[in-house]
Amino acid sequence: MAQGRYVVDHERAEWVIKTLIDAWRQKLPPFDHAVPVPEYLPKTLVPGSVEHALWLMAGLPYMRGRIDSAQAYIRLTHVYDLHPWMFDPETFRHSSMKHMNARAKMHKILRENGLGFNVRETIRFWDFNFKKLARFWDGNPLKIFKEAGDYDALCKLFMEGKKDPNSRTGFMVFRHKMVSMYIYFLTNAGLIEPFMYPGPVDTHNIRVMASTGMIKMSEVGPGARYEFYEVSPIARGLYQKYCKTLEDVLDLANALWYLSRDFCSRSQGNSSSTSGYRGRATEVWAKRVKWTPEKIRQYNSTCGQCSVESVCRWSLPSATQYNQGFLQIRSERPKPHTGQESLVELKRSLRSRGPKAKARKWAGEDEFPHSDQGVLFE
Ligand code: SF4
Repeated sequence: MAQGRYVVDHERAEWVIKTLIDAWRQKLPPFDHAVPVPEYLPKTLVPGSVEHALWLMAGLPYMRGRIDSAQAYIRLTHVYDLHPWMFDPETFRHSSMKHMNARAKMHKILRENGLGFNVRETIRFWDFNFKKLARFWDGNPLKIFKEAGDYDALCKLFMEGKKDPNSRTGFMVFRHKMVSMYIYFLTNAGLIEPFMYPGPVDTHNIRVMASTGMIKMSEVGPGARYEFYEVSPIARGLYQKYCKTLEDVLDLANALWYLSRDFCSRSQGNSSSTSGYRGRATEVWAKRVKWTPEKIRQYNSTCGQCSVESVCRWSLPSATQYNQGFLQIRSERPKPHTGQESLVELKRSLRSRGPKAKARKWAGEDEFPHSDQGVLFE
């Protein structure tokens, strides 16, 4: 089915979604060591409290990529234990000298705790959102959920009016992805009654959906661009169509995120180097694909173990999304040729045995795992 220049392969989508949900439930790699982010909690925080919901909300700006979000939440646990006033909306209610001092202190504290990434912007969001919570929601974000009742109404409350500090609705950082992410955290923590919603669609989700051909383009191939704001409604639609239960939504969200973060990111075709961050002008280059023994082992422990490897065709580096604002097919996903691992190991052992042995081997005097793939070593 075509949606603009995108085409959804529903048969493929259903298979990939079901396969990933099953893999997540069976704890197949890379899901065997997965720890959901909200399971890291400050020692002084009462689980299930309003403070718990506030702490999770404060961490959302770190869920926007280009920083390890699990590490960010771990660091926020220390910040909460030492400086709980930072998570109290009353700190931000009035714009005053005291409030300005609090912001300056936050700047220093976040930097000292390894949270200096985009610190000015993070504090601006934090201040704006917590001020609204204090002024209009009794300092309690859970009241927004009570009032909304369903996903669409919740999106309106979080997203509409964010330019107006005097509007009770509209919170910074919140778009569809962040609304879903917050629902996901709060549901996982048992802070809200579960209800159906589309999983948080981000670069990781879209990368897997594109590389496996769930969402194709009319002109698919190297150079094809997946524009986030065009593809994300389609991706949310796939969640809604193929996740029958809330458990399906949670499991798929986890599976897509961990798969892309822990496996796809280490696929050689997705490795990049950049010119250093210069906003949208940042240049991104592909790293050369080289099947050394180490890289083959890496392949075998990532794509080689992936449950949807058989249908994954394309490489889409996240570097273009984070630096230039779009996901783009770079090339066919590189794979080592069949038997290449044993050939590389053999080459290594021949090197250690000297040139004569090597010549004999390559002349075919001993048994040798031939390949019809031509030159295999780069
Ligand atoms: S085969 Fe590799 S790149 Fe493709 S989805 Fe699996 S881990 Fe990601």
